[in-house]
Amino acid sequence: MKKALYWEAKEEGKVKCLLCPHGCVIPPGGKGLCRVRENVNGALYATSYSRVASIALDPIEKKPLYHFHPGSAILSVGTVGCNMRCQFCQNYTLSQTDVPTEYLSPERLLDLITQVEDNIGIAFTYNEPLIWYEYIYDTARLIKAKDPNIAVVLVSNGYINPEPLAGLLPYVDAMNIDLKTFNDDTYRRLSGARLEPVLETIRRAAAKCHVEVTTLVIPEENDTPEEIGKLASWLAAINTNIPLHLSRYHPAYKFSRLPTPATTLLALQKEACRHLNYVYIGNLPRVDQGTYCPECGRKVIDRDYYEAKVLVTRPECPGCAASLPLIL
Ligand code: SF4
Repeated sequence: MKKALYWEAKEEGKVKCLLCPHGCVIPPGGKGLCRVRENVNGALYATSYSRVASIALDPIEKKPLYHFHPGSAILSVGTVGCNMRCQFCQNYTLSQTDVPTEYLSPERLLDLITQVEDNIGIAFTYNEPLIWYEYIYDTARLIKAKDPNIAVVLVSNGYINPEPLAGLLPYVDAMNIDLKTFNDDTYRRLSGARLEPVLETIRRAAAKCHVEVTTLVIPEENDTPEEIGKLASWLAAINTNIPLHLSRYHPAYKFSRLPTPATTLLALQKEACRHLNYVYIGNLPRVDQGTYCPECGRKVIDRDYYEAKVLVTRPECPGCAASLPLIL
């Protein structure tokens, strides 16, 4: 366990966690909603510090990040816990249950990152990384002190307060942030969280690092062209080049309804493309996932599931010389 960074003492030995917008007030011996921050004798501790539940070398496309070192592989780690309660969670064994973990210090993780061949860095993923804050903060600082070119990636629900986010962003190169719906009522009902803090995280992160956004499209919840149009329009006001991934829902955890129809995803992609230059469909076989120059339509990255073939050598279209928002 490691003493947490963002909290304040309250009356009668309670503590208030200041890491995420839930602001849990935790009595002595109690845990926060995320299950990995505990009040020990009137101080807040991060109980998942250095505890790793899952580790693998993944294609960067799996995060998904399509415009950040496409075609590369990245060591990926995760632990347990989450500060949301999504009833459709596609990774609920890690987020909502207790699975075995192993100790992996920041120093040892740095060793692994540098020892694995053809690896661009580290992705904190699988469960919600922002509640693993202290471990990621310590590891990312070690990484950047050793070699600023080692990539640090977060795959996150974006539910964090502005102050801790600002503390971490200087050490982060790219984020994929879930934007689960553009409706605050749906956020509260399905995830137990609020929309506005997630929007604030996207705004702040997009100003500091590479950002892509993922929306899991769930039938009868967030699958209307009106909602996805509003979401895409809001993203476009930040930057029309933010890639949006419309990911196909499959039944998981407490949701048993049928997967999202392909026709729905294609219609929503068309709607989002009215606002954004790059909209991709995920989790759907036999759909074009290529990246095209928004100026002349030339294909610049070919993708098949998690395999990417980059057809340019620099972030510029070979056809019309337009600059492309790619980190190669
Ligand atoms: S990080 Fe965990 S303990 Fe802290 S406010 Fe959020 S849910 Fe509560």
